[in-house]
Amino acid sequence: MPADNLDEAVDLQATLNSTALQAQLSKNTFHIISLTHCTDCGFEIDQKRQALGGVKRCTECEGFHQREVFQKKQRAM
Ligand SMILES: [Zn+2]
Repeated sequence: MPADNLDEAVDLQATLNSTALQAQLSKNTFHIISLTHCTDCGFEIDQKRQALGGVKRCTECEGFHQREVFQKKQRAM
């Protein structure tokens, strides 16, 4: 991968991470206790992720869930 593409990919990932973090922070769920294990796959949820509060799924399952929600919204439009 050329350096320019890699830089763009790194920038895009940083933007996505920042957007996801802001979305989570805006939910103000710190007071809600997170689950220790994912409701979808049963694997342990990363402790940093649990610290966000109100977390029910591991990162991977949350990604699948968000994509499903996004696709349902797209179909409804
Ligand atoms: Zn999971």
